[in-house]
Amino acid sequence: MVDDPEPAAAHCTRCGRSRAEAPPADALAWVMTHDERGRSWLCPACARAHVRDIEGKLPDEYW
Ligand SMILES: [Zn+2]
Repeated sequence: MVDDPEPAAAHCTRCGRSRAEAPPADALAWVMTHDERGRSWLCPACARAHVRDIEGKLPDEYW
């Protein structure tokens, strides 16, 4: 058994960067997310930007 079934297939959903090509220390910082389409990955830089998007954006329903 392995924790990560397909590491070679993982790539950032925002910038398309391959996790398999990232340095091992950097790969550990990648963030796995789950949405309606299943599992996806964000590289560290995009994960930070993504969090800022979420925190900075109010839902449309709020208004
Ligand atoms: Zn990215």
